[in-house]
Amino acid sequence: MKSDALAISPAEYSATVSDSTTQKPPAVTAATADPVCTWDGAQVFDDTTWTPVASYAYNNYTGPVVGPNLIDQDIMRMVNGLTVEEKVGQMTQIQVGQIIDCNGKLNTTAVEYWIDIMKVGSFLETPANHGGKYNWYSAKRFAEITDAVQAIALRRGSRIPIIWGLDSVRGANYIKGGTIFPAGIATAATFNPQHAYDAGRVAAKDTRAAGVHWAFAPIMDLSVNKLWSRVYENFGEDPFLSSLMAKSSIGGHQGDYKRDRSRVAACLKHFIGYGYPFDGSDRANRHIATHELLEYYVPPFKAAIDAGSATAMESYGAVNSESVVLSKYYLQTLLREQLKFKGMLVTDWAEINTQATMYHTAKDVKQATQMALQRTSIDMSMVADDESFIKVTVELVKSGAVSERRLDESVARILQLKKDLGLFESPYADPQLASTVGSAQDIEAARNTVRESITLLKNTNGVLPLKLSERVLFLGPTLNSTRYMGGGWNVHWQGPSDKEGDAVYQGFGDTVLQGIQAVTGAAPQYLLGIDIGGTGTIDVDAIMSAAQSADKIVIGLGENTYAEEQGNIDSLALPWQQLNLVYTVAAATKKPVVVVLIEGRPRGLANIPKIADAIVNAYLPGAYGGLPIAEVLYGKVNPSGRLPITYPATEAQASSTIWQASYSAYNPQWAFGYGLGYSNVTYSNVTLSSSSLTAGSPITASVTITNNGPYPQKEPVLLFTRQQYRLGYAPEHYRLRDFTKVDLAVGETKTVVLNLKAEDLAFWDRDLLRRIEPAPVNVVINPHVYTGLVAVVQLDADPDHVLERAPWS
Ligand code: BGC
Repeated sequence: MKSDALAISPAEYSATVSDSTTQKPPAVTAATADPVCTWDGAQVFDDTTWTPVASYAYNNYTGPVVGPNLIDQDIMRMVNGLTVEEKVGQMTQIQVGQIIDCNGKLNTTAVEYWIDIMKVGSFLETPANHGGKYNWYSAKRFAEITDAVQAIALRRGSRIPIIWGLDSVRGANYIKGGTIFPAGIATAATFNPQHAYDAGRVAAKDTRAAGVHWAFAPIMDLSVNKLWSRVYENFGEDPFLSSLMAKSSIGGHQGDYKRDRSRVAACLKHFIGYGYPFDGSDRANRHIATHELLEYYVPPFKAAIDAGSATAMESYGAVNSESVVLSKYYLQTLLREQLKFKGMLVTDWAEINTQATMYHTAKDVKQATQMALQRTSIDMSMVADDESFIKVTVELVKSGAVSERRLDESVARILQLKKDLGLFESPYADPQLASTVGSAQDIEAARNTVRESITLLKNTNGVLPLKLSERVLFLGPTLNSTRYMGGGWNVHWQGPSDKEGDAVYQGFGDTVLQGIQAVTGAAPQYLLGIDIGGTGTIDVDAIMSAAQSADKIVIGLGENTYAEEQGNIDSLALPWQQLNLVYTVAAATKKPVVVVLIEGRPRGLANIPKIADAIVNAYLPGAYGGLPIAEVLYGKVNPSGRLPITYPATEAQASSTIWQASYSAYNPQWAFGYGLGYSNVTYSNVTLSSSSLTAGSPITASVTITNNGPYPQKEPVLLFTRQQYRLGYAPEHYRLRDFTKVDLAVGETKTVVLNLKAEDLAFWDRDLLRRIEPAPVNVVINPHVYTGLVAVVQLDADPDHVLERAPWS
């Protein structure tokens, strides 16, 4: 880290930058010393209205990666001018509920307390999740809050702009009218990383419109245990697919973020190993051998770091019983030394305090704080609710237990981030951006992601697509709901409440039924059948009478909204009453049945794969999922999504992955990569450019694909490898090594070329050495691994040659 001896005070620093600050501070509302609540505690709609521009220009940065690197001299001088209290304040993040009154107004007394007395440098979250009056804050209203806090920060305390963080994880899902994109699992199902980029870019712009500079996204944990409540947030179970999506998402969020003020800092999360909780419950211990961690879980994070992610968030809980937030190995050796992450690292929510209060890994908060600071490279503590981190850290430094130099490293990274984001020159929200929130251009981008993500899992006798001439009865709880399509992290942390229902969207979204009406031009015939929780009874008579004139029946099943621990389940199975709706309807009506799944994780379907004639998985497509689902059902869009996860057939397969050891049977309901289209695409002529593969000499594999069907088809072409043997280490069932997505017109034939490197086939052994084991390798091309075409390449290498060596702590 560069440093120079000339220290200046923050006040002097502010003076030096104030001339270049072109923005004017907003008026700050007077403190409400003793707030009188003028509302009854129920949230109300934000009545802000605006007319979004139909389209807008944006800067699609394509230059070299812009990421965190060195600390500038002026930043080091600024750090040197801060007191210990000011440094600790910069390292502290407080949640917005601490500064919002019950009447929805900013409590300026509280803001001044946190900024002036506690010197806090960061806030997070939306007031809508923490007692704020409005249930979905518009960018304008949100910006009034962030600007008012910013104005206080620039005049009081350390006089350093604050940085605000928000879970804009699929578009700016917490900003009213911000275009909500599908969940990460659906984005991954497109097998088209451009969609991750688009979602990130729109999220950044809408987030920045609210005066928020930092998105806690993307999420790149591998979704291994499918019971886990956070499966839907991630890009699936595969390291390669997740890496490409993560890289693209970082590009979308950040772009040229050191210059482009419509971008935000991204945050790779959650580092690391979060996606394999042993019993499927959120935050449970993960048992992952370190070489397997490096092999499977680390690559997406590496891709995100290489893509320049400005920040990172460590993961809740423990890997191999070692708390991540206290781990020198995970947060210093692996993250900083091996992966060379130079950005700013934040804890997850209250994760230092919970070491003492929940995980029993420290005797008290002070000890937990000391360990986190001494052992790891944590820069900021998402405290989020009290002064504990500030108080004990100041004590630790003053007593000499933690060096001030340790604080300097973190504060430098934080201030550099603030500078990179332009907060010293442009601390306030740009009102121009607010007019682009909810633009038709963004909504179309979100819908395009849904269109490419929907995955057709079964289609017998051409039951799909539906024809406009057919009479269709629509049933089931997920067809008439926008909020179920959004899931958690959508308007609210847990999604819209039952009380708010769909009204909370105020027109920013649609349901599947609305989509069907738009496609068919007529109101669909619809009955609920059963509610999402499976309460009540199925009115068979009503269904029978409605079904009498129907040619086909479409039933929407799925999950209620949830996030984190509130989404824990004991069984993958969908509520039996939902399953029973399908059984009952199929048996009673004998009509063709189509099941549409709207779910965040692959819920158990029991006999439905046998009973239903067609099954469509729409994952969590977000608020704008209704029209694309209808378009797929009616053949206006030919489905081209592929499963980014293994869909288990049984509870025992909850943690099956495509990359599990090849000697274990892999018989899921549907394999990773599975998905059908309405056209029949045939594969032939797999040709390798060489019959041997050595390090430094990549080869290509080409395949001829032909669209024999009646629809244009977007075809994902996937290249897997399966090593025939690997001495002493079980090779994986299959590993995805390359993919592309190709447009095929009706009758068209194309030759698709994919790449393969020997280095890709290296693996981490138990000594944490990355080596290549020479052996024949099957190269399999086709999304459906069982029926894929196989060519064999001889992998040649010196098995003792070490490509990479992981340091031990
Ligand atoms: C989640 C993070 C999130 C943070 C802030 C935590 O509970 O694990 O993913 O970014 O809250 O909302």
